[in-house]
Amino acid sequence: MALVLDGNRVRDQIKSELEPRIAALAAQGHRPSLAVVLVGHNPASEIYVRGKVKTSQDLGICSETLTPPDSISTGELLEQVDKLNARPDLDGILVQLPLPPQVDTRRVLLAVSPDKDVDGFHPCNVGRLVAGMPGPRACTPAGILELLKRHHIPIAGRRAVVVGRSDIVGKPVALLLLHEHATVTICHSKTPDLPAVCREGDILVAAIGRAAMITADYLKPGATVIDVGMNRVDNRAEAACIFRGMPEKLASFDQRGSVLVGDVDPTAMREIASAYTPVPGGVGPLTIAMLMANTVASAERRAGLC
Ligand code: NAP
Repeated sequence: MALVLDGNRVRDQIKSELEPRIAALAAQGHRPSLAVVLVGHNPASEIYVRGKVKTSQDLGICSETLTPPDSISTGELLEQVDKLNARPDLDGILVQLPLPPQVDTRRVLLAVSPDKDVDGFHPCNVGRLVAGMPGPRACTPAGILELLKRHHIPIAGRRAVVVGRSDIVGKPVALLLLHEHATVTICHSKTPDLPAVCREGDILVAAIGRAAMITADYLKPGATVIDVGMNRVDNRAEAACIFRGMPEKLASFDQRGSVLVGDVDPTAMREIASAYTPVPGGVGPLTIAMLMANTVASAERRAGLC
């Protein structure tokens, strides 16, 4: 039986470890506080932001959400970010992506003070990651490392293959694995013979955004498989093919009209891997937990506690 890497359990551990740190800050009169900028009405972004605000409230982190309209210009958004940067009461600023097409996302991310960049996206903080210096790490990759470590999955000396080279997941998770002494290969859409490269991975991270693309012939027997993908499938025939032998998933599809699917074929993963992250309930819950951890760490730095 493969080990299921339980993201909900690790999320709860991380949250309960944050509680005494938040209490210690409160004892010094410093309540950690996070500002979220949510531009326009992207339904997926609205769901993510609701989750972030709710978790902040549960933990006693002060949160506020700015909701500028879809029509905002780059200049106007830069002004709002500048105002947040200047506020001494804020420890963290998060600009929810994606931004509308007329907004220059790079300029906006660059404008967030590196000191308050709880997403770890600012080039200064990316540089700290590359150099192995302390600093906020991108939340999903940091969560993946927590999942591996807290389930005692060995990393040092092992071959890790990362499929996907985005700034948000692929590149930072590859660097974090490298710092843990894995031998890392990064793959992307132009990698020839991807199944053969993936089969070299003792640890395989799939961050692609294509439902169940990683099938049995990509998996090394006994590998640890981290499935970052979150793809909504609304075609019943496709869902039935992906979830063959998993009637409860098809029942859920029939109830909701769609189902969440990772980048890895779930049946192949369960049969071939020695450990894997389920979708949902694997990597997903860690992203918000690590955002909270970055916000608390920022508050501690700013309060002079570390
Ligand atoms: P992204 O920016 O679209 O990057 C996707 C990467 O996959 C790119 O590097 C792309 O290669 C590569 N790729 C696409 N098709 C490929 C193929 N056929 N063969 C090999 N590589 C291929 O996506 P992302 O932001 O990293 O997100 C990836 C997935 O993770 C999505 O499903 C997203 O929803 C999910 N996600 C989940 C969480 C979470 O909290 N669980 C957080 C973030 C993202 P090129 O660079 O060559 O185009």
